[in-house]
Amino acid sequence: MLKFDVITVFPEYLAPLRLSLLGRAIEDGVLGLDVHDLRDFAHDKHQTVDDAPYGGGPGMVMKPEPWGEALDQLLTPESVLIIPTPSGRPFTQAQAQEYSAMPHLVFACGRYEGIDSRVASHYSSKVRVDEVSLGDYVLAGGEVAVLTIVEAVARLVPGVLGNEVSVQDDSFAQGAMENLVEGPVFTRPPVWRELEVPEILTSGDHAKIAAWRHLQAMQKTAINRPDLADS
Ligand code: SAM
Repeated sequence: MLKFDVITVFPEYLAPLRLSLLGRAIEDGVLGLDVHDLRDFAHDKHQTVDDAPYGGGPGMVMKPEPWGEALDQLLTPESVLIIPTPSGRPFTQAQAQEYSAMPHLVFACGRYEGIDSRVASHYSSKVRVDEVSLGDYVLAGGEVAVLTIVEAVARLVPGVLGNEVSVQDDSFAQGAMENLVEGPVFTRPPVWRELEVPEILTSGDHAKIAAWRHLQAMQKTAINRPDLADS
């Protein structure tokens, strides 16, 4: 079973992880999820988790002590500690696939100007620590990044999706789709507002349909993701 532990100052932010497919997988014991309030590990009167940055400048930085206490409790030698940050390596489907085979992922949700960098340095000598970015933009906190990463990983864990085969046809999936985005998809009715479903899709010729889909994926990749098409 893959177990997720999430540490945050906004535990309610993670509530959507208990809905839909993931919620069912957690209920069925295919996935485990615990969300921890960082303030439970801050012991002063105001349960302070932030302080002014060394070197000056605007904003606040998350103090290392509450993180240390929380992570000492949660990490085991098999854990991977994932720290979402815009300065991390870009999160990809290949990484989601790798995480989906792991036993324990621990997420540290930053807020303000981020977490004191000594937290990542300290735990790097004990477990694998991945600083992961969702993209080239800045969110207010790590919670939305964790919702995204957990959902992308969880749907690749066997037993979470109804139809395991469908993930092989997804954009970026390992194998034939690795550097491609998926092409257009259609369902009934055959004509909607004078727009017809491509005839090939109703032909019943599976080999031709597969070849058409591959061509569509290449065309869409060339238009929307020329960076992938060149790789
Ligand atoms: N001062 C930081 C910087 O410029 O790199 C940004 C801090 S941001 C306001 C607060 C938190 O949001 C970060 O610690 C991280 O947890 C999260 N965050 C923001 N943007 C992110 C991104 N693109 N990917 C992953 N996490 C992000």
